[in-house]
Amino acid sequence: MERLTAALGREPVWIVSAPGRVNLIGEHVDYCDGFVLPMAVERRCVIAAVPATGDVGRIRTLTLNETTEIELASKPAAGRGWENYVRGVISGFQERGARLPGFDAVIFSDVPLGCGLSSSASIEVAIATLIEAMTGTIIDPLEKAELCQRAEHEYAGVPCGLMDQYASVMARRNHLLLLDCRTKQSRQVPFADPGLLVLIINTNVKRKLVDGEYAKRRAQCESAAKAMGLASLRDATLEILEGARGAMDESSFRRGRHAITEISRTSAAADAIAAGDWAGTGRLMYASHDSLRDDFEVSCAELDVVVDIAGRIGEAGGVYGCRMTGAGFGGAAVALVRASAGRTVEETIRRSYREQTGLEPYLFASRPAHGAMILRRPD
Ligand code: ADP
Ligand code: MG
Repeated sequence: MERLTAALGREPVWIVSAPGRVNLIGEHVDYCDGFVLPMAVERRCVIAAVPATGDVGRIRTLTLNETTEIELASKPAAGRGWENYVRGVISGFQERGARLPGFDAVIFSDVPLGCGLSSSASIEVAIATLIEAMTGTIIDPLEKAELCQRAEHEYAGVPCGLMDQYASVMARRNHLLLLDCRTKQSRQVPFADPGLLVLIINTNVKRKLVDGEYAKRRAQCESAAKAMGLASLRDATLEILEGARGAMDESSFRRGRHAITEISRTSAAADAIAAGDWAGTGRLMYASHDSLRDDFEVSCAELDVVVDIAGRIGEAGGVYGCRMTGAGFGGAAVALVRASAGRTVEETIRRSYREQTGLEPYLFASRPAHGAMILRRPD
């Protein structure tokens, strides 16, 4: 807070924040009209701002120690890396007819960049929330998430799904969010037991083939659906898939099998969590990982090492389940852990992962946090 005031040179008039997120289960099924089950994490992008004269928005990120200046009277041009997330969101609001006043803003974030927690969605949604606070107009939450997603598509050039922005807007403390990617409707799933936490383990491995492989998987899912005469894999069952096996190649069949089973695992996990069935939830997480590794082929040795270590610790040691999360080929795994064993589990995973891979993982434990918030605005 003092840091934000110091960086602005005066007391903030508006303060907003938006969280990063992690997906507990429902991987690579957002583009198959499936379900995803993310939660907001206890890491946030915070923005403080004051009015300024002129039609210019000046935004400084303390994270990168860079500043961007945006003309508010016209559509913002694309800029360098991080500026695009901000410019794209401002452009989206302008398209809706919003008139933005001149402002000075400072961004401070403890969401680590590029660690699988979607810092990009957190900065987009935080900017959108700042604009809501400044203009006094709160927009429909789904429209807000979609506007941020569009910024990421059109300005940042990342063809992401809706989950990250949706979770950052809509998440609720102590709840997971079951998002139906077909209807874009969601259900809040209570995760009330304080004895449980979610552990994110980033392998610190990044592979360049992610984009190409991602596009390939999407195409294979589409071709599997097409071979069954369906619009998407959401409408498929294992029986229908089996019946159409001859009409598709072997890898489309396996991609389809992942999507079909993952969609049903995700709704089953939502029910298991709501019922406090942690062992059942954990089994679904391990099954999800196996399916992503064997049928979808998007895991990698390091992610498999993490899941293997988690499995060896087991329920007796406080780990209910673990799986890769995100696009794969590196990135992060997520584990469901008993809070009382949290520290020990973290240390065991860190040590074993280091021993087996020679790499240093990034670990972070969280309870489900709240979505975007306006923390201060004029009365
Ligand atoms: P992830 O969303 O998984 O963290 P991305 O590559 O999608 O990784 O997004 C990271 C990018 O988002 C950063 O490189 C930067 O451009 C932008 N970003 C996120 N948080 C901030 C921030 N606090 N300040 C400036 N840019 C940020
Ligand atoms: Mg991102």
